[in-house]
Amino acid sequence: MSRILARLSINTVLDIFYYLPFRYEDRSNFTAISDLKVGDIAAVKGEVKTLGNVKTKRGIDIFQLALDDTSGIIYGVWFNQPYLKKFFKPGQKIIMHGKIERYDKLQINHPQYEVLKGDESDSIHVGRIVPIYHLTQDIAQRYLRTIVYRAMSEYLKCTEEMLPTKLLARNKLVDINFALRNIHFPAKDENLKRAYKRIVFDEFFTLQLAVALKRKELSADKRGVGHIIDKEMARNFARNLPFELTEGQKRAMESIEGDMKSTRPMNRLIQGDVGSGKTVLAAYALLLTVGNGNQGAIMAPTEILAEQHYVTLTRLLMEYDVNIVLLMQGLTPKTKRETLDDIRGGRADIIIGTHALIQEGVEFKNLGIIVIDEQHKFGVSQRAHLLRPVISKASNGESAQAVPDTLLMTATPIPRTLALTVYGDLDISSIKELPPGRGEITTYWISDSEREKVYNFLREQIQKKRQAYIVCPRLEETGSLAVKSAKFMHEEFKERIFKDLKVGLIHGKMDSSKKESVMKSFKKGNIDILVSTVVIEVGIDIPNASVMVVENAERFGLSQLHQLRGRIGRGPYESYCILISDAQKEGAQKRMGAMTESGDGFEIAEEDLKLRGPGDIFGTRQHGLPEVRFGDVVRDMEIMELARKEAFLLIDKDPELKSYENRFIKDNLDKRFKGRLGLARVG
Ligand code: ADP
Ligand code: MG
Repeated sequence: MSRILARLSINTVLDIFYYLPFRYEDRSNFTAISDLKVGDIAAVKGEVKTLGNVKTKRGIDIFQLALDDTSGIIYGVWFNQPYLKKFFKPGQKIIMHGKIERYDKLQINHPQYEVLKGDESDSIHVGRIVPIYHLTQDIAQRYLRTIVYRAMSEYLKCTEEMLPTKLLARNKLVDINFALRNIHFPAKDENLKRAYKRIVFDEFFTLQLAVALKRKELSADKRGVGHIIDKEMARNFARNLPFELTEGQKRAMESIEGDMKSTRPMNRLIQGDVGSGKTVLAAYALLLTVGNGNQGAIMAPTEILAEQHYVTLTRLLMEYDVNIVLLMQGLTPKTKRETLDDIRGGRADIIIGTHALIQEGVEFKNLGIIVIDEQHKFGVSQRAHLLRPVISKASNGESAQAVPDTLLMTATPIPRTLALTVYGDLDISSIKELPPGRGEITTYWISDSEREKVYNFLREQIQKKRQAYIVCPRLEETGSLAVKSAKFMHEEFKERIFKDLKVGLIHGKMDSSKKESVMKSFKKGNIDILVSTVVIEVGIDIPNASVMVVENAERFGLSQLHQLRGRIGRGPYESYCILISDAQKEGAQKRMGAMTESGDGFEIAEEDLKLRGPGDIFGTRQHGLPEVRFGDVVRDMEIMELARKEAFLLIDKDPELKSYENRFIKDNLDKRFKGRLGLARVG
């Protein structure tokens, strides 16, 4: 038996207690068969009258039994399981559960069932709300339920209450005995809710303690660069901008100053929708570090973006004596060597590049800050991995080099749930508004059969001197014509539909100088319609582009679509995002719906998480986060907030969990993390 239980990861009594049911059946009252409604999910109890196997004309085995509860008869029907016959006998009392259907008679197909014994042990299984567990081979529902029940009666009294009474009272949490008993055998629905809340609280509380400890550790880290803030320079910087900073930008700037002043290494994320103006913040942070005699680096996910940053930063920092270098592929060996020398020798102040910045053995003299733009393109573990060599290289030669500040920027806001967990050790600034004077973006979802309309509309816009992007999910045809390829659309437009217009093509397989020249001519207005793959996804700033058409929009993720939409509406013109899709699947339809309903990146990010589910985010172990077994980080957000508040309070008061009162909490934490309290530390 223990071998079978071990397959369910049940090895100890505690494991039994925490082997939670996945659903419950209310067997305190069964529905009378005569009252059943087709379509309902219901449990019925009765006596087996007749049973037997039949074979259909098409050779399918059907086993069926008739169940009688004196009010009526219902059939249990199983396909291709003739062996079931030997499990049942006429006269047996059984329970069946499932969806009520009616063909020529009332029936449940493949019901869940349980045979009652007719003795007192039945009191565990009927006349109450009963737990239903996931099973493995060779173990019956009834048997497992009995094991849980017996374990409870014997040992529940021995479980220790981990949480202090006051904490329980403050948060209206039930004690652990009550919770465990009622999560398995709830006396009523209300108890089940309270039990669930407590058990999920425990789980999230442990998680949040880890986050709180990590943050404590980070804030105690004094190896950072204590920058001196030159107020005059700050004022001057703001004055020289061709625009007034938005409130969100100002707030983020203050937080950056605060972080950079401190000797605690900065670990901040700026999240703000596409076009909210994050680059100017990066420029300020970089200037600040250079003003303090350090180097600053900025890393972008694509070469095009790195080049754009080079142009932007050169313009923004024109007034100052800063040497900005761009490190990228395609430099001549000589230029490259010189650039690397300049970086190593400290003659380069601001270094811009892609992740090649780190991979290609770049040595910094004294790196004060590293800015990572569009950080979501890099991924948590990749980012940490990328940063480590920078830091260790920076400390080469030089003794006791400071840990550089880290500033992350993203246009894909982190949903609140993740901000509290995976990214719980980051400081986050949100820019919620766009600079004034931007044109509205309207989003349409259109079926493929309406594409003529789209073409006419494109023509109108181009007559108004606007430009358009057409994004396709792939570059080349691969058999199915249902998925539009960039090459195909480019041909189609150029040779047929928009013969008279200037149609361009850009894609990821082009070398970067070619890409650059295409983007340049688009920017100059020498291309009206630019057909592309997702290379244009991030960062590109072309205010005159007012239409974004996405082909086979169902092939893109929600945040990706939102990013694409961010390419337009960057100027004063009314802009239009047109999603062409015959999406059939529910998920895709919901994504299209979310896009047409909301233009707010924060809302989109929350919706995206809901649609993809936390499994996607917690699926990989790479963040070092424990798996969430009981709670649902999206649905149980409120419990997460409570747990967070209490965890931070506790760590504040008793950072090392030394007090007697907290001994069980400490034990639990040690057990859960087995000494590896490594959360998603960035840098
Ligand atoms: P993102 O946050 O997407 O990186 P950018 O930094 O590329 O946005 O900014 C988009 C455009 O908005 C740029 O042309 C930039 O000069 C401009 N911009 C930034 N801040 C402001 C502001 N406060 N007012 C007006 N325009 C701004
Ligand atoms: Mg940007």
